[in-house]
Amino acid sequence: MNVLVINCGSSSLKYQLIDSDSEQVLAKGLCERIGLDGRLVYQKSGLDKEVTEAPMPTHKEAIQLVLDALTNKESGAIASLDEVDAVGHRIVHGGEQFTASALITEEMIKTVEECNELAPLHNPANLIGIRVCTELMPGVPQVGVFDTAFHQTMPAKAYLYGLPIDYYKNYKVRRYGFHGTSHSFVSKRAVEFLGLDKDNSKVIVCHLGNGSSISAVVNGKCVDTTMGLTPLEGLVMGTRSGNIDPAIVEYVAKKENLDIAGIMNVLNKKSGLQGLSGVSSDMRDLEAAADGGNENARNAVDVLCYQIAKFVGGYVAAMNGVDAIAFTAGIGENDLRVRKTVCSYLGYLGIAIDDEANARRGEDVVISTADSKVKVAVIPTNEELAICRDTVAIVSGK
Ligand code: AMP
Repeated sequence: MNVLVINCGSSSLKYQLIDSDSEQVLAKGLCERIGLDGRLVYQKSGLDKEVTEAPMPTHKEAIQLVLDALTNKESGAIASLDEVDAVGHRIVHGGEQFTASALITEEMIKTVEECNELAPLHNPANLIGIRVCTELMPGVPQVGVFDTAFHQTMPAKAYLYGLPIDYYKNYKVRRYGFHGTSHSFVSKRAVEFLGLDKDNSKVIVCHLGNGSSISAVVNGKCVDTTMGLTPLEGLVMGTRSGNIDPAIVEYVAKKENLDIAGIMNVLNKKSGLQGLSGVSSDMRDLEAAADGGNENARNAVDVLCYQIAKFVGGYVAAMNGVDAIAFTAGIGENDLRVRKTVCSYLGYLGIAIDDEANARRGEDVVISTADSKVKVAVIPTNEELAICRDTVAIVSGK
């Protein structure tokens, strides 16, 4: 079955066409600057990237251009759209309504719309992608895969905030968690790859990228995660602050003469590694600057590693133990120094790192030594493949 995986952002769109039988990517790419000038990146498997400047005033033109590229006579991956058997959409927020991926129907769309308020930048864009695909590929089954669904197994003690309970009852203010597709994929793969008993396993997944979150997973079910009502909570991230004392909001608002929107802009876009370092939100730039003696960059990297170690320690307590820790996403997969530093805080758990294994890249790899009491692994995430697998399972009724 060929599955088109679509991840619609507010002004961009990533796509992959995957043959679900072989799990090979047939073509992939992205549309950028939707609503501005428009640029399509298309890459058929085994060939070079093609970049085309093309007007895309809305997501409709963008998706049409993707479909044209996929079926192009010379460089297309398929002969016609009849070869697209299903479409899988990433949807950011499924609220409490969605505990798993679901077939897209009109009723399902209405329920997703009810969650729009919780993710005003993302959910409406995801829904536009769904509507455009319905229009351009009528009759092709579509599936929604939610960032929040995997975390719906958290118990109340993990998802409730210390706020008046009516805020939860009336407005659904609670921890939801994000990156669920990645946490689900990586925790499952860690159990399989490390030979753990899936019904008796405690795994911590550290998804460390531009956005970062950590989850605690017992017997395949999420019991806690660092992101909250929104993806702003938890770890310090590329430009997001992560956890701060809530009273800072009022204090800084007064000092800087900012309103709520101004403060939220700072917390989302000007804080985190970027804000701390004044150099960059990108770990590669930060480490280069830190190596060159930039103290703010050094502090930014240290803050991140320290926070990761503290959350891991907290989740070991929450689960009363841990069998494995898995690192994933841009920083988790590539940054051996971050992994090494984080694990150096975890010696009390009997964790020891094999430096040679820690230097390997691009594959599932155990980076702890044979006698380490807890297994530590790098597991590259693959959210598109996870979306493809869920789409096939739902479409074929498995
Ligand atoms: P993601 O959001 O998963 O794409 O991850 C983006 C983050 O991964 C950025 O902070 C990048 O600097 C970081 N990253 C990517 N490659 C490397 C690398 N080789 N070493 C360190 N960090 C990296």
